[in-house]
Amino acid sequence: QGEFDGLAAVVTGGASGIGLATALHLAARGARVACLDLRPDGLPEPLHGIAADVSDDGTVRAGIEAAVEHLGGLDILVNNAGIGAIGTVETNPDDEWHRVLDVNVVGLVRVSRAALPHLRRSAHAAIVNTCSIAAHAGLPDRALYSASKGAVQALTAAMAADHVREGIRVCCVNPGTVDTPWVRRLLAQAADPDAELAALKARQPTGRLVSAEEVAAAIAYLASPLAGATTGTVLAVDGGMHGL
Ligand code: NAD
Repeated sequence: QGEFDGLAAVVTGGASGIGLATALHLAARGARVACLDLRPDGLPEPLHGIAADVSDDGTVRAGIEAAVEHLGGLDILVNNAGIGAIGTVETNPDDEWHRVLDVNVVGLVRVSRAALPHLRRSAHAAIVNTCSIAAHAGLPDRALYSASKGAVQALTAAMAADHVREGIRVCCVNPGTVDTPWVRRLLAQAADPDAELAALKARQPTGRLVSAEEVAAAIAYLASPLAGATTGTVLAVDGGMHGL
């Protein structure tokens, strides 16, 4: 018996990294899973890919409807799609602020708005947002990204309060540096990728990067019926960085 038997889940940004690991984790434990992503091609079985851009309300609404139709309902929403931004308040121009906040913050709002009417019909409804240690750590050169994830953490608390009485739980995970294609892309751009990877590892008290599967397991716990008394909760998955 899988702990997600009979439950249907949508994972945004589910075609790579943390989202893909989460979709696979949920599916392996019995959930029916649809991945909403810009590029959902080539997903492994049994994941169902749906093309959607969280910064485009039309594709979000169509994508959620297509997912609900395919899955036969919706119990779990993982708001995971997100993009990075490097810079300070002096270096990121306004259009970059608008672009990143539109994906990381308003994108989460759009998907949640489309999903809530369906989640209300579930006996085990849960939303889990992928936030980041950047929400509170004061990371250098990450002003815009940090602001976007600070908003995600605040939204998690506000949504938890708004929807608890209708039986919908809302939590978030705050990963540290996770070994995903995103981080590998950043490393490849560094002048000395090996030295940069060593520096990233050294920043984490565990001395290594977090794995996507470790974040997936935390998201799955918060999404599971076993976490039925847990809402508005922030779960750090950061190799001990939040304690520093
Ligand atoms: P990734 O780049 O490997 O995967 C992100 C996925 O999101 C991709 O498949 C991409 O196509 C999709 N996506 C991007 N923009 C989208 C859009 N507008 N609409 C739909 N899908 C879109 O990244 P990842 O490292 O797995 O990151 C996933 C989430 O985890 C992000 O929200 C990120 O902020 C967060 N996070 C990552 C780390 C890390 O170190 N990797 C740390 C903390 C938080």
